[in-house]
Amino acid sequence: MSDGSQVSHKLLQRLAEKRAAEEAAKQQEQQDLTKWAEFVPDIEIDSPGLSRAEIALDEFMKLIPITEAYQRWGGQSAVSPGKKEVKVRCPNPQHTDKDPSFVMNTEKNVFNCFKCGGGDIYDIAAWHKGFPVPGYKDQAYFRDLKDSIAADYGMQIDRSLGGSETLYKAEVSPETPVQEKPSQSGTNVLYTPEGAGHAEENADLDPPRHHESIDWRHILPQNTFMRAYMEAVATDTCPEEYHFWLGLLGLGMAVGRNVTLKERSPVKPNLYVCLTGPSGTGKSRAKSNMLKLLRDNIPYKKDDYIATGARILADASSGEIVVRMLQHDMLDVNGKPTGQYSPVRLLLETEELADIITKSGRQGNSLKGVMSRLYDGHETIESNSMANALTAIMPFGSAITTTQNKSIRDLFSKKDDNSGFLNRWIFATGVPKNQLHIDRTTLDLTRAGGLIRLIHNDAENSYSIDWEQLADEMWKDAFDKEIVPRKNSVDTSILERLDLTMKKIFLLLAINKRDKLITVETVKEGMLIFPYLLESYGIVEQQIAATEIGDDQDFVLRTIERLNKQGKSVTANAVYKAAKHRIPDVGTVKKILQNFVEMHMIQDFKKPAGPSGGRPTTVYMIS
Ligand SMILES: [Zn+2]
Repeated sequence: MSDGSQVSHKLLQRLAEKRAAEEAAKQQEQQDLTKWAEFVPDIEIDSPGLSRAEIALDEFMKLIPITEAYQRWGGQSAVSPGKKEVKVRCPNPQHTDKDPSFVMNTEKNVFNCFKCGGGDIYDIAAWHKGFPVPGYKDQAYFRDLKDSIAADYGMQIDRSLGGSETLYKAEVSPETPVQEKPSQSGTNVLYTPEGAGHAEENADLDPPRHHESIDWRHILPQNTFMRAYMEAVATDTCPEEYHFWLGLLGLGMAVGRNVTLKERSPVKPNLYVCLTGPSGTGKSRAKSNMLKLLRDNIPYKKDDYIATGARILADASSGEIVVRMLQHDMLDVNGKPTGQYSPVRLLLETEELADIITKSGRQGNSLKGVMSRLYDGHETIESNSMANALTAIMPFGSAITTTQNKSIRDLFSKKDDNSGFLNRWIFATGVPKNQLHIDRTTLDLTRAGGLIRLIHNDAENSYSIDWEQLADEMWKDAFDKEIVPRKNSVDTSILERLDLTMKKIFLLLAINKRDKLITVETVKEGMLIFPYLLESYGIVEQQIAATEIGDDQDFVLRTIERLNKQGKSVTANAVYKAAKHRIPDVGTVKKILQNFVEMHMIQDFKKPAGPSGGRPTTVYMIS
């Protein structure tokens, strides 16, 4: 049995290497963005035909090397440069490729996968972004895919209402996030088994702190969409909670505003979900599964008279664009615009939450305000741009994004009023599944797809879901017991959100069962999710508290980082020793550390007592 300090020294080394690699990747990404942006032809078009902007975009995309596409969109392996043929693990989220079977030909700029067949950069991007492969080349999809690829390179085709299009280089923000880089095993790198030789060392460590989980097998009845979806995606390595929240979000997209919960102000079934976790937990994969399900089963079609499909908008850059996309051009029988608009079910998809905040920070940008109103389910939303005043009527929208734990801290530490916006999000965290237990290599979403189409059809005519009297009483009672007592300790706006989000959950659980009433059973099921949700809001709450004493917290964090780097054991006492001049007692240090652990910003490990006895201690490391 090796002693604890050696273990943590090893881990620290690995952590340091991992962070250096991440840093290098980040810099590379910045360089790449600049490099590729240079190829964008400066082209301004105001003619009605869409083609020139799109052609310019196509020209640009031809220049993206296949290996670059692989690394950017869901690459599973490192790519060594300079080879004609590069063999790596397949990036298709539905192909669990343990032994590399995906070969890229860098001269022809194409790939071939032993299992999935051949393709080009578009296929790689389409898998990653949840477009159907094959099938994405159908006209409407293909354009959406190209738009999304363009956005990844900081470009955008702007559509005016008159139909003219302009391709322009969006300002590349210095905070453009790093793409999620998977770790070698798809699980937290600290717990990667390294073969028998290291088994003992790993046995010394406690598993990572298990936060609240969602026991979906007890919550979701058989023969429902959610059950079928969760069973289908159980074969991948993503935390189940990611899929759970995305499943509920998908249900909301299927019904839109047509199904509401009867309240003084009717509750809409939309959700904002932020998948949260370190790199390699499968955030992008979980997200693309849901996007694919929606695109395959309830697609938005431009030529529908009334649009009831899910319209997916990637990387919205302003409130104005969101408002514009919330309106569907109603066409007449000849396919000509009638000049009238019908509401759209919009899904806003952004790679990194910080991006929304950054864009909103630019002068005159109404993105955050528009998204807040969209979440709250207002009857109308106006973009407050002076030049181009637009109003969306009866809008419906959900949002998906992801973030790394580290970024959450940065978001909240900005002296900007983000808290009111951030507490509309559910921060979904969870423990990745163990790959060893997975035997199937493909995900089959056929059954879940059929069930969500059924629900989509159910909602063709709008209806509202009411409470059974007993259920109503049960929820009011739970509210008084569970939520009200917390009123003294937290910001009251969070309580209101918690109340609203729980009602959304009851509504969605009822929709899933195709019930027309919130039953006692549904309230019980919803209450099983409550502790998880509370923890999610706890992240927000603690972060807000953290900003108030931010400097001390920052100091503590920097101290842990520094000691980690030096390979020293970080105990509460060691931190206190460094922070003595500013933090009054070790108890305060411990409280700060505990908060960080709960926010998953650092991890704690129990270090056993040494050979000479003494008490076991707790050591901390940056997540
Ligand atoms: Zn494959």
